[in-house]
Formats: sequence, structure tokens, C-alpha cells
Amino acid sequence: MDKKIIYMDYAATTYTKEEVLKEMLPYFTEYYGNPSSIYSIARETKKAIDVARDRVSKALSCGTDEVYFTAGGSEADNWAIKGIAFAHANKGKHIITTKIEHHGLLHTCEWLEKNGFEVTYLDVNEEGFVDLDQLKRSIKDDTILVSVMFANNEIGTIQPIKEIGEICKERKIIFHTDAVQAVGHVEIDVKELNIDLLSLAGHKIYGPKGVGALYIRKGLKIDNLIHGGGQERARRAGTENVAGIVGLGKAIELATADIKKDSEKLSFLRDKLMSGIVEKIPYTKINGPKGEKRLPGNVNISFKFIEGEGILLSLDYEGICASSGSACTSGALDPSHVLLSIGLDHETAHGSLRLSLGDNTTEEEVEYVLEKLPPIIERLRSMSPLWYDFKKRGEK
Ligand SMILES: *Cc1c(COP(=O)(O)O)cnc(C)c1O
Repeated sequence: MDKKIIYMDYAATTYTKEEVLKEMLPYFTEYYGNPSSIYSIARETKKAIDVARDRVSKALSCGTDEVYFTAGGSEADNWAIKGIAFAHANKGKHIITTKIEHHGLLHTCEWLEKNGFEVTYLDVNEEGFVDLDQLKRSIKDDTILVSVMFANNEIGTIQPIKEIGEICKERKIIFHTDAVQAVGHVEIDVKELNIDLLSLAGHKIYGPKGVGALYIRKGLKIDNLIHGGGQERARRAGTENVAGIVGLGKAIELATADIKKDSEKLSFLRDKLMSGIVEKIPYTKINGPKGEKRLPGNVNISFKFIEGEGILLSLDYEGICASSGSACTSGALDPSHVLLSIGLDHETAHGSLRLSLGDNTTEEEVEYVLEKLPPIIERLRSMSPLWYDFKKRGEK
């Protein structure tokens, strides 16, 4: 079978760029020395890690001594939250985050709640933005950490990170942001934004899976998550994932080289896809904000009266890869916590579709989806009892 694949799930993961892979390969077969050893092939690997660290630091406008490599975005989130919580527990045990974080962060906070910490989960409005006044009101004498994601992976909302950073700085509270989705799409200067910790991941920016980084502001006290050897300046043990780190370094360099141009192209395709869907299909609802404060590659739309799973299966039949507004937790389909937090009811949340675009997306692909999607929705609705009831009520 030689079916054309239309990949519109870049927010779930990306392919690894050829240039990235090319830089990685020698570190499997040629320069395989352990970076902690002293012979020359090991010196090459050590040097390669330094180059990658330098590239990450340039992308974030921070020092090379503030970049720590991890095994991905989830580890970076876990480390930031648990590491700060335990290192600062003597000052307080209250943490503030939001209801729409990635599970890597939410489930970490829930675990901390079981271990003596108190967590406030901020609401978001119908577009997914946090309320800065609610944030200010939630800060208590024992608040040690605020964690707000830079950009949301489901609905694309880009938070007012600078304002949040200012509030935290003024109240002397540590500020972490999960920037896994923002890197490569938004200009990030951690000093200007008053960010103390920032998580990122390789596989969302055309790098390899299983590698990420945590930026930790110099001088910040944080406990280790992974204990063992002295790697990463004795803060993150374990022999370095050298090839992965090399790949992450190259990927972040490429992803941040021309953010403005890339964003313009993606925003154009995003808007064409969004407005095309709304035009062609009745009873739809766009989730997330409009314009500049939305990730350039993110489209999220609810189709009333049907289930997202059905849409995904039908799209897959046409070679289109996408995501729905439900997540499979322990065998059952749960509506996305993000969609519920912006005020959707369970039924509408279940009928949601996320199409996330990336650097290989073309206008032809957008047109193909605009051609294939309307009949799919129509067919699924024709089989839906909810649609049937709705129509019957309308006829009366
Ligand atoms: C993908 C993602 C993560 C998790 O990163 P992994 O590298 O898959 O562990 C965390 N936060 C956000 C916002 C993400 O999109």
C-alpha cells in the first residue's frame, strides 16, 4: 500500500530533520566514548555536548551553565516542580499552576499534594488565558512556586508570560514555564521574561524523542531528581544521551533561526484551514484564541453531535493524521481537561479535533483536508442519535 500521508499532528511529535539526524549519526558509531572518560574519542563527545549546550543557551538567551539536559519534556517538568518543592519546603509548601497544564506537570502536582504540598490550580477563560488578578490573589505567604505553561498543546493559547514573570519577581516567587510547545514558535528570552526555570523537548521541534532540557537560573536552589554520577555538573546523573543531545542542539538552532518567517507561513495555513472548516461545516466551534496569541500551527475545532474518535478513524482512512479532544485513561475515553477548563460540556469536548501543522504542511494538504473533512462529519452526524434528536426538535 502506498497511501499518501497527510501529517497534521505536529503538536504530538515531529519527524527528525535530515540535518539533525546527520549530525547525530557519528555519535553512535564513531564518537561513542563516554564523555566522562579522558581518551580522545571521549573528548569529541564531550565537545559535542558543549556545542549543543551552547546552541540551547543561545536559543533561550541564557548562560551555558544554566542549561541541563534531560530525557524529555516530562522529566524537565518533573524535575522543576519536585526539585523546587523539596528544596524550598522549609519556606512554604504552596504551589500555583493552571488547570490546563500538560499531564507531565499536572500529575506531578497531584503527586506532591499526596506528599504534603498544597496546589492551587488557576482557572482559564474561554480562550484559555489565565487571569492575572486571580494569580495575584492566589499568592500566599507560603507560596514557593508558580508554574504556567508558555503555550498550550491542545488549543494553542500563548500565555502572558512576561506579566506573570513580573508578578513572580515582585513577590519573590520562583517561576517555571513549560515551553515545550512554544520553543521555535515564540521568541524566548528567559532574562527579559523573568523566567527561573523552563522545560523544552527535542521531539516537538524536529529533533529526536527522549531528550529535552531544563533551564535553571544560575544560583537557584533545586534538588536533584535523578541521583547518581556527577554528570550535568552533578545535577542530573546518568551517562549523557550524546547523540540525542547533539540532535536537540541542532534542532533548536534550526527551529529558532527564522521564527518570524516560519510563523507567518504557518499562521496563513492555520487560518485558511480554520476558516475553511467553519465555512463548510455547520455547528462547529473554534477552541482557543484568535490571531497572535495562538500558536501558529494549532487548529482545534469542536463538531457538535459526534465523537472525535470517529472523526480520527475516518481521517486515518484518508491518510490524515490528527488528534481528538479525548484522552484514553485506563481504558475509557475522558474528555480533555483543557477543553473542559475553557467551558465546553462533555459532549462538545468529545467531538473535538486538533489539527496541528508544521514545516512540511502545504497549501495543497490544507485543501485536501478541507475536501475530505466535510463529508466525514456529515456521514458521522447522519449516524448520530444526538444529531437525529436535534434535527427532529428543529422540525417541530
Ligand atoms: C509533549 C509535551 C510535554 C512532554 O514532553 P515529552 O518529551 O514527550 O516528555 C510536556 N509539555 C507539553 C506542553 C508538551 O506538549
